[in-house]
Amino acid sequence: MTRNHEDCIALLEQIRWGGKPKCPYCESTNATPMKNQRRYHCNTCFTSYSVTVGTLFHKTYVDLEKWFLAIPLVLNSPESISVRQLAKEIGVNKNTACYMIARLRKAMIEEPKLLQALVEVEQL
Ligand SMILES: [Zn+2]
Repeated sequence: MTRNHEDCIALLEQIRWGGKPKCPYCESTNATPMKNQRRYHCNTCFTSYSVTVGTLFHKTYVDLEKWFLAIPLVLNSPESISVRQLAKEIGVNKNTACYMIARLRKAMIEEPKLLQALVEVEQL
């Protein structure tokens, strides 16, 4: 199943927030959606944020679509998936695939619940 960027963001928002934005800095849910981009302005601490802040997806140069494709592949065989195999399966170069595998292995320790939820959604 392929999703576009918007779909991925919407899905992540659903999983992390249950649809209601929550500030990653002060945990306030008093937020105003920003126009023209999928970010929110926090009315409590006056910062802006998107759903990826505080997750493995924050500040990576890889598209969310690619991450979503990689997650089930890497989670199902974290020790045995090769860089070459992942690169081929999701259409990225080897450097990117190598980075993604390392990042996902780290996230499996730090954010197991989020990854698990994403895998379950992928299998629906
Ligand atoms: Zn805030």
